[in-house]
Amino acid sequence: MEAKLQELKNRLAEVDDLGHANAVLAWDQQTYMPPGGAAARGRQMATLSRLAHEKFTDPAIGRLLDDLRPYEESLPYDSDDASLIRVTRRQYERDTKVPAEFVGALNEHAAITYQAWTEARPANNFMQMRPMLETTLDYSRRLADYFPGYDHIADPLIDFADYGMKAADVRRVFTELREQLVPLVRAITSQPPADDSCLKQHYPEALQRQFGEEVIRAFGYDFNRGRQDKTHHPFMTKFSLGDVRITTRFNENDLGDGLFSTLHESGHAMYEQGINPAYEATPLADGTSAGVHESQSRTWENIVGRSRGFWEHFYPRLQQIFPDQLRNVPLDTFYRAINKVQRSLIRVDADEVTYNLHVMIRFDIELQLLEGTLTIRDLPEAWHARYESDLGVTAPDDRDGVLQDVHWYGGIIGGAFQGYTLGNIMSGLFYDAALKAHPNIPAEIAQGKFGTLHGWLRENIYQHGAKFTASELIERVTGGPLRIEPYITYLKTKYGDLYNL
Ligand code: ZN
Repeated sequence: MEAKLQELKNRLAEVDDLGHANAVLAWDQQTYMPPGGAAARGRQMATLSRLAHEKFTDPAIGRLLDDLRPYEESLPYDSDDASLIRVTRRQYERDTKVPAEFVGALNEHAAITYQAWTEARPANNFMQMRPMLETTLDYSRRLADYFPGYDHIADPLIDFADYGMKAADVRRVFTELREQLVPLVRAITSQPPADDSCLKQHYPEALQRQFGEEVIRAFGYDFNRGRQDKTHHPFMTKFSLGDVRITTRFNENDLGDGLFSTLHESGHAMYEQGINPAYEATPLADGTSAGVHESQSRTWENIVGRSRGFWEHFYPRLQQIFPDQLRNVPLDTFYRAINKVQRSLIRVDADEVTYNLHVMIRFDIELQLLEGTLTIRDLPEAWHARYESDLGVTAPDDRDGVLQDVHWYGGIIGGAFQGYTLGNIMSGLFYDAALKAHPNIPAEIAQGKFGTLHGWLRENIYQHGAKFTASELIERVTGGPLRIEPYITYLKTKYGDLYNL
C-alpha cells in the first residue's frame, strides 16, 4: 500500500507541477507580459492545461485509487492519507466524465470570447458578444449534461465551485438573506448618503502601496512566501505553498480602491499560506471551495479592515502618511466614508450591504439562461429590469450592465457567482465562532494586533486546505450547518450603529 500511495503522490505532483507552471504563465500574462506575447502565451497555457488534464485522467490513477480503497477505509476519515485518496477520487471521477476534446474546445472558445470582451466592453458592444455567448451557453449546458441525474441543470456547474451545493440550496439561502437585506438597504438609503469625498482626493500610488503593505504584514501575510505586483483586475495566485502572490491596482483619485483590494487578496493569500506544508503538491494543498475562499478574503477586507476598531489603530498612521489629505478629516468621517451604502450599478464597487443583491441578480439570471427561460438575446433587457426592480438603478448602457463582469466572457455560464455571497455569509459564521473562542479579538484589533484571529483561522480553517468540504468545515467549526444569522447580526449591528437604525 505504501508503494501505491507513493506512486499516486508522484503522479499527482507531476500534475501539480504542470498546473503551477501554468499559474506562473498566467500571473506573468496579467502583470508584466508585453501585448506581443499574447498569442504564444495562450497556446503555451493551453498546452500545459492539456498535459495536466491527460496526466490526471490517466487510467493508471483510477487503478491506484481502486487499489488504495481498502487502505483508505482502514484509516480515520480525517487522516491525511484517507483525505488525499478521497479528495483525489472525487476530482478524478469529475474530470474523467468530461472528454478531453470537449475541455480543449471549451477552453479555446473561452479564450477567444475573453479577448473579444476586452474590446467589446469599452466599446459598449453587446451585439458583438451575442453569438459567442450563445455558444458559451451551449457549452455550459453540454458540460452539465456530462453529469446526468441532476435536479437542476446548474447543479453540476455550482458543484465545480462550491462542492456539495445545489441550485435549490443556494436559492433557499439567498431568499432568506434577501428578506433581511431589502429592508436594511431601504432603511439606510432613505437617509442622506454618507460623505465619502475624503477618499476621492489625490493619493500618490507609492504611498498607498506602502500603507497597504504595512497593514497586510501586520495581518500576517508572509512576504518571504509571497509578493505583490500590479495588474488590471486584482487576483491571488499560488505557485507552491512557499510562493503565494497577490496583485493589486491603484487609483490615485480613490484611496479605497487599492487599499481594500489589497486587504481582500491578502485574505485569500493567507488562507493558502496557512495550509499544512505536508500537503504540498497534492490536491489537498488548495482552498476547499469558492465560498470558503471568499469568506477568508471578506473577513480581512470587511469584518476587520472596515471595522471601527481597526481604524482606531491605523487611522493615525494613515493621517501621518497623507497629512495634507486627512489632517482635518475626523476618524468618524473617514469610518463612515469607507462604509458608505448606496444603490449602485457595479458589483465590484458595491458596499457590504448591497453587494449580495448584485450577486443574486447574476445567480438568478444564470439559472434562467441554463433552464432556457431566458435567451441571450433578451439578456441585456433582463439585466436592466432586475437592476431596476432590485436596486432601483438603471445603467445607461451595457458596458456598466451585462458586460461588466468577466465571468461569463472567460468561462462558463453557471456556478460563477454564488460563492461570493456564500463567502460573505460564511465570513460572519466563522468570525462569530472565533469570537466565541476568543472574545478579546476586537480589543486586539483595536491595538493593531491580529495574532489571535489569524491563529484561530489557521488552526480551524487554513491548515486543512481541501481536506474537508465546505459543509464539513462549517459543521466542525460551528457545530451546525450553514446559517445566515451571524452574518445578518453582524450587518445589522454595524450599520445600525452607523445609521442609527
Ligand atoms: Zn475574492
